[in-house]
Amino acid sequence: MKINSNFLNLKDSYLFAKVGQKTAEYKKAHPDHDVIRLSIGDVTRPLAPCVVSAMQKAVEDMAHVGTFKGYGPDRYCYGYENLIASILSSYARKGVTLEADEVFISDGAKSDLGNILDLFSADNVALVPDPVYPVYVDTNVMGGRKILYADATEANGFLPMPDGGVDADIIYLCSPNNPTGAAYTRAQLKAWVDYAIEKDAVILYDAAYEYFIGDGDLARSIFEIESAKQCAIEFCSYSKTAGFTGVRCGYTVVPKALVREGTSLNRLWARRQTTKFNGVSYVTQMGAAAVFTAEGEAQIKENIAYYKRNAKTIANCLDGLGIFYTGGQNSPYLWMKCPNGMTSWEFFDYLLENACVVGTPGSGFGKNGEGFFRLTSFGTAENTEEACRRIRNLLG
Ligand code: PLP
Repeated sequence: MKINSNFLNLKDSYLFAKVGQKTAEYKKAHPDHDVIRLSIGDVTRPLAPCVVSAMQKAVEDMAHVGTFKGYGPDRYCYGYENLIASILSSYARKGVTLEADEVFISDGAKSDLGNILDLFSADNVALVPDPVYPVYVDTNVMGGRKILYADATEANGFLPMPDGGVDADIIYLCSPNNPTGAAYTRAQLKAWVDYAIEKDAVILYDAAYEYFIGDGDLARSIFEIESAKQCAIEFCSYSKTAGFTGVRCGYTVVPKALVREGTSLNRLWARRQTTKFNGVSYVTQMGAAAVFTAEGEAQIKENIAYYKRNAKTIANCLDGLGIFYTGGQNSPYLWMKCPNGMTSWEFFDYLLENACVVGTPGSGFGKNGEGFFRLTSFGTAENTEEACRRIRNLLG
């Protein structure tokens, strides 16, 4: 028996462990200091009331013979029709028309971002941005695939554009981006779609943060771009949209127009899912189906507005200090340049020791992250304001 030795090529994912360890050590040494975490990558606001009611009703359904549900319906790979219909209506509001069997319900974007690679040969070359959400890199390392990096830097506003000289087969785009908070305009995405079609590549588009977009020039779905259905798969999640990080639900769109080597990737994915996946729980799907109703949208927007006010508080603080950053406007993340030429970890220590504020060192997301630092807006308003007051005192 031989193991998949590609796993031995994975780098230790020590970033968040090291942040946690350094924070714990500081707290132990200074038990009376109040440490504020602007490093939180998880949501903190509770589920929308209409989601909770829908889930309660679904639990009740499960308690009675007449309404009990077992495995989900086969027709849409175990997705319930009312949930898929709500997703189609949400796309329709973005001007995108999809068919019900182009939408696959998942237990979140992370699983599908990894699982989708089952469809692609190990010979394919992956192109990922640097800095990057580490899942794109690690899942390709596990599959033994060659990885190229598209540099995201201060010079390009942390939004790399296609390089005609680079041949890639699988292209990862994440907009609004984690960790940089930068988001592509429709015109920029059009250039990526044109490039993918020219190279016969497939774009894996991670739209986990699309509900933070407020700016009309920015695309909320890659399918807003003409011809994208011929070259892209889109990954969406209720996690950041509706506080589902602990509930677990998302959806992946594989258009029927996406064909490679004469084979429909939609059919391949349906075959993969019905073989290796048995669907998302009925209770969860009913909760998710409440999100894109008029009532649900109004309620989730309140939570998103709360996080965006925090982001604005941090942005105002950085503006006042004259510090370069991306994100914060259409994203829960702000990606700031470390002051006085400090490295990411030097700034981490400086901020923790002098302001009792914790962020995430950018160097943990890739080589281009060195000298940058990620702050998030997922904390409470009070903590965010206090953290900014301390940062202003320290750096002002
Ligand atoms: N994609 C990005 C860019 C993320 O930052 C995250 C979570 O932080 C995910 C996907 C995973 O989302 P989910 O909770 O749906 O698995």
